[in-house]
Amino acid sequence: MAQLSDDCFAFGGALMSVDEAQALIAARIPPAEGEEIVALTAARGRVLAHDLVAATPLPPFANAAVDGWAFRHADLRPDAPTRLVEAGRVAAGHRAARPLAPGEASRVFTGAPMPPGADSCVMQEDATREGSAILVPPGLKRGANARPAGEDVAAGALALPAGRLIGPAEAGLAAALGRATLQVRRLPRVGVFSTGDELAEPGGALAPAQTFDSNRFTLLSLLGGLPCVASDLGIVPDDAARTAAALTTAARDHDLLLTSGGVSTGEEDHVRSAIEASGKLVFWRLAVKPGRPAAMGVLPRAGSDFAAGGTPVVGLPGNPVAAVVCFLHLARPLLLRLAGAQDRPLPRFAATADFTYRKKAGRREYVRVTLATDDGQTRARKFPREGAGLLTSLTESDGFAELPEAITGVAPGDRITVLPFAGML
Ligand code: AMP
Ligand code: MG
Repeated sequence: MAQLSDDCFAFGGALMSVDEAQALIAARIPPAEGEEIVALTAARGRVLAHDLVAATPLPPFANAAVDGWAFRHADLRPDAPTRLVEAGRVAAGHRAARPLAPGEASRVFTGAPMPPGADSCVMQEDATREGSAILVPPGLKRGANARPAGEDVAAGALALPAGRLIGPAEAGLAAALGRATLQVRRLPRVGVFSTGDELAEPGGALAPAQTFDSNRFTLLSLLGGLPCVASDLGIVPDDAARTAAALTTAARDHDLLLTSGGVSTGEEDHVRSAIEASGKLVFWRLAVKPGRPAAMGVLPRAGSDFAAGGTPVVGLPGNPVAAVVCFLHLARPLLLRLAGAQDRPLPRFAATADFTYRKKAGRREYVRVTLATDDGQTRARKFPREGAGLLTSLTESDGFAELPEAITGVAPGDRITVLPFAGML
């Protein structure tokens, strides 16, 4: 259970940098306890609980990589075709009747065990059959077109480390090593709230001064791509007592709580004070734009007792783009820690800026950009409107340009780092 607390964190007026916040998460958040066994077909998105060590080599035996003939490389003439006597035939799933003698070539098909004695293969397209003889051209290397046992994974080698998120490639590798089930970590339970008197449930009607809640759906969808069980905890009104009650109740049976909105300095912002009233605030305000009014804290699991560890809570900003930025840089790494997953930095690549931008030093900024590739160069163009509330700035752009704390601006032609939305949003 999470041991996140504020004991060695000096909470002052300064803004917390993204790196500091992430270092705090890495240092203070242990994985949620518990493991279970799942079928490989249900393992996608789960986190491997233990190292997977290969019990057998992969491939299990040396085999032909092509349809053709297997032979002894030592029989080949270096600079002229070699005539070998066709002897034997091995199909995939069958074994050679006898070892290959010098001067012989055995018909083989892809995946068939190499006949003992043979070490190389020629593709059928490259060889010529002349009666019962096979003409093999010169130039093939020893081991050509043959796959040695254990080429992929040696017996006893670490195939997948504990903490690996299981995707299609991992499922395939586990199956290839003979596993039908995997021991995985328990999925952390994540509760998601929205806060705000103005929010209405989509599907209903809008009263005057209301707007539909969108953050909860963005966040639940983001969580859908991460190792957790997310629960929709609805909308909490802008009321101190009700905010505190909602958080403390949910903290009892969740491993992580996410809220959005209500975390700025206004009188109607109750999330931070609710965390302070019933738990501990770890930090408030992040040196990032958009996303400054973000808070992180820990709430007791049972009553006011922290002995059993606490439930971390991330108070995300209300503006939809700011909520996404803070989710990606705070909630995501925190959740991966709880899930016992290896660090998975967000994908980043280099691009050339096609825009001018001024920023303040001392905070990191995420600018929405569209990407175009010409002449093999990826160019990033700034989305024309900047508001942190614009949902279409996410649907109509391709990624975030990540502008580091130290810089004060971007000029056309500058090399910048882009975090693509693909695979992230
Ligand atoms: P707040 O941080 O609560 O002051 O909210 C900042 C802005 O984000 C306000 O315009 C809110 O109406 C908007 N907002 C807050 N929560 C949500 C939400 N769940 N869905 C859509 N907009 C929201
Ligand atoms: Mg609000």
